[in-house]
Amino acid sequence: MNMKSIFGLFSCFFLFVFCVSPAGAEEYGKPKLYRLDCGSIEVLNLNVFSDTDQYVGQTKTLVSSCYLINAGTNWLLWDTGLPSEIAKEEDGQKNESFHLKVTKTIVEQLDSIGLVPEDITHVAISHGHFDHTGNIEAFPNATIIMQQAEYDLFTKYTDIAKANHFNDKTIEFFSKKENQAKVKPITKDYDFFGNGRVKAISLPGHTPGHMALKIDLVNSGTVILSGDQWHFIENRVSNGVPSLNSDRVQTLASSDRLNKLVQNTGAKLIIQHEPTHVELLPAFPEFLD
Ligand SMILES: [Zn+2]
Repeated sequence: MNMKSIFGLFSCFFLFVFCVSPAGAEEYGKPKLYRLDCGSIEVLNLNVFSDTDQYVGQTKTLVSSCYLINAGTNWLLWDTGLPSEIAKEEDGQKNESFHLKVTKTIVEQLDSIGLVPEDITHVAISHGHFDHTGNIEAFPNATIIMQQAEYDLFTKYTDIAKANHFNDKTIEFFSKKENQAKVKPITKDYDFFGNGRVKAISLPGHTPGHMALKIDLVNSGTVILSGDQWHFIENRVSNGVPSLNSDRVQTLASSDRLNKLVQNTGAKLIIQHEPTHVELLPAFPEFLD
């Protein structure tokens, strides 16, 4: 090989590495994962998380968690927590099953790292329950990503949604054409940024369009945010199915899929309502990358 062809080869390599590849896979940069504090849920009747009467007479304190993922110029919120108006009430809100509290709103937390609601480019919800969709209206520029089956509950099967822990206010939000225009309904798994690093994993059963989030971090490895596939550690160990789930068979199949995915990828699994899991992630505004 003469000098000219060696130079030519080197030029091609240079062109690929420095000119072609940055516009492709690395456009979205190394993802960063932040966990937000989205409140606490004292479960006054833990048996709502068992369709086999496993927790009769028991109570438990869980957390409501939300997550912020940065990828280049994109800011993705995964779940939007309990409604922020709960923060205005000193002792939160209480019904026969849950005592809900919020101490700091998502918008207040974003402000502490210099972000305003308009900076959020994507909002994705694991599912439509009230404690995962509380502030969905607060991010005017965001594309809202959810499974088609969940979107159908918000827009077509609203009576079923209302009877199954969806918030009336959120159903009303999605009844408006201008808000429907912001929604990107998806089916099955979904690669958010086209580089395989941030993916929704379809896990129907808790609700018809329930999903988890898998994030492949460059330095910290793979993290999987469970959605509500399980609500606390013991719920996973006993392969339990909450009585409030939409489909038992789908739930068990989804548990099997998620367990195998965690095992095969060596992922750190964060059960989103489990306080001891959420504490494994650094407290905001620290992050994993
Ligand atoms: Zn749920």
